Amino acid sequence: MLAAYITHTDCQKHEMGSNHPECPERLGAVNDQLLIKGLLDYMEQLDAPLATQEQLAKAHSPSYLQEFAEIAQQVPENAHVQIDPDTSINEFSYQAALRAAGAAVLASNLVASGQAPVAFCNIRPPGHHAERSNAGGFCFFNNVAVGIRHAMSHHGIDRIALIDFDVHHGNGSEDILFDDPRVLMCSIFEKNLYPFCGDVPMGSNMINVGLPTRSGGEAFRQAVNEVWIPALEKFQPEMIFISAGFDGHREDDMGNLALVEADYEWVTKQIVQIAQRYSHGRIVSCLEGGYDLSSLGRSAAAHVRVLIGAD
Ligand SMILES: [Zn+2]
Repeated sequence: MLAAYITHTDCQKHEMGSNHPECPERLGAVNDQLLIKGLLDYMEQLDAPLATQEQLAKAHSPSYLQEFAEIAQQVPENAHVQIDPDTSINEFSYQAALRAAGAAVLASNLVASGQAPVAFCNIRPPGHHAERSNAGGFCFFNNVAVGIRHAMSHHGIDRIALIDFDVHHGNGSEDILFDDPRVLMCSIFEKNLYPFCGDVPMGSNMINVGLPTRSGGEAFRQAVNEVWIPALEKFQPEMIFISAGFDGHREDDMGNLALVEADYEWVTKQIVQIAQRYSHGRIVSCLEGGYDLSSLGRSAAAHVRVLIGAD
């Protein structure tokens, strides 16, 4: 059984204007490093399907889904419609967002059913800032939340951990999942950074750790060891989803946690060990942030190498 690698060329057609950091080239940067490092030899590449409205409705409100579809269908050719000060859509964005959420659903199906041991989704737009009824922070559909809810409703999985190591707090995932006792969400993020929340968790199933600017790898690893691991051991997840953002890298201007590839490799090892102990090794990882193309590619490769057991 090969690990699944899920992506789609439609995800590169969505763009938010020249010089926007959440750019189409991000997917190529990740893909190139996976290819150069020989990791794609160990993975089966699959095209992301389109998420259905029924799948999206497990994480988003019907009114939001309808409103977003209507706005997206009215975008003129070669134009952008602004959703928030940092987030806009072009004529291809809706299709890209459906592919990104659809990738998480396919990954959820493959891993939950045992057809693939793990899956990595190289997708954009990212998802973890998308709330139940709001887009924002470059995100439209909350890909991991859609995948998690699909694993629950279609595969009867009752305990799922969501691990988010993006430099920004996954406020959208928290908004969708905070009152769902079947989920434990573990988030480490940089304090006083967008979306400027997370210090006070919305629910008892939220394990949020805000780290000060320039904390570095040692503080990050300490938080994982002292806060995440005990919570995960107590929760004993049947399956794990990862919001894999690499914008905490020291070369990425979007955040200042000063992490390096070795930190992403290390945290992935800890997650794999938990998955092997409690979750039959089942992990679905979805790309979130990471905007410096070189460190994004290198960090994603370090993460995937451990995820698929090629280390
Ligand atoms: Zn981020």
